[in-house]
Amino acid sequence: MDSLMKGKRGLVMGVANDHSIAWGIARQLAAQGAELAFTYQGEAFGRRVKPLAEQIGASLLIPCDVEDSASVTATFDTLKDEWGGLDFVVHAIGFSDKNELKGLYADTTRDNFVRTMVISCYSFTEVARNAAALMNEGGAMLTLTYAGSVRVMPNYNVMGVAKAGLEASVRYLANDYGPRGIRVNGISAGPVRTLAGAGISDARYMFNYQSRNAPLRRTVNIDEIGNSALYLLSDLSSGVTGEIHYVDSGYNIVSMPTLDELKR
Ligand code: NAD
Repeated sequence: MDSLMKGKRGLVMGVANDHSIAWGIARQLAAQGAELAFTYQGEAFGRRVKPLAEQIGASLLIPCDVEDSASVTATFDTLKDEWGGLDFVVHAIGFSDKNELKGLYADTTRDNFVRTMVISCYSFTEVARNAAALMNEGGAMLTLTYAGSVRVMPNYNVMGVAKAGLEASVRYLANDYGPRGIRVNGISAGPVRTLAGAGISDARYMFNYQSRNAPLRRTVNIDEIGNSALYLLSDLSSGVTGEIHYVDSGYNIVSMPTLDELKR
């Protein structure tokens, strides 16, 4: 099976390097025949993303900073000029000031709250609106979230609030675009060692704790997240929309640490 995405063109937003979740997703999509475009945030990331894009034959590389609406519009103008249409989009973007990804959530500043919301939550709605305008024969959209949206995770703070908004956006967007055959879903990934993940204080302890206490007794890797993304972006999931799908070794189902952990 290597042609699930044959004939489909999609945009992948959020590759920073070869540890990025978006890279794991892009690799699986390309392996199944998708034609890909990438965005990158600024020239420094651009230099890292270019060789990755070349490695899987991505045809377009476009600068995009989602904090700037004009940059988002320009990205989709380029896609319209180059491709005319779009079949899917992957949004794997998040940001918050790392000085506020520790301590009390209550101490979040107004400025960082707004910035985190714009980049980590609103950008998906803006991307979805622009992408939907290019989707003439149905389509699929996917964003990345984390369980800190529904439960308190140490230090995740304002990102948890943004992810809660992001997950609600998935449901509203799924309802908006469902009548046009466009599906909108989210993957709630377990902890992965990435640039963004490293911004959360004590991330290493969370990572190790989850690998000891998740039902599968390990964390997930970006290829596994990529495989689940492939399902949600391909026709295999044609009846699925508005879902938040956990790819976290089952950690979200447990209510207590393992007995081994309690006895440590
Ligand atoms: P990453 O650092 O590799 O990717 C984050 C991406 O966001 C980068 O490519 C960065 O350029 C981009 N970005 C940040 N601000 C931007 C802006 N203003 N404009 C455009 N792009 C911007 O880290 P990752 O862990 O692969 O993160 C991808 C997504 O997965 C994020 O939404 C993150 O919250 C989510 N996620 C991560 C984990 C984890 O443990 N790493 C777990 C669950 C969900």
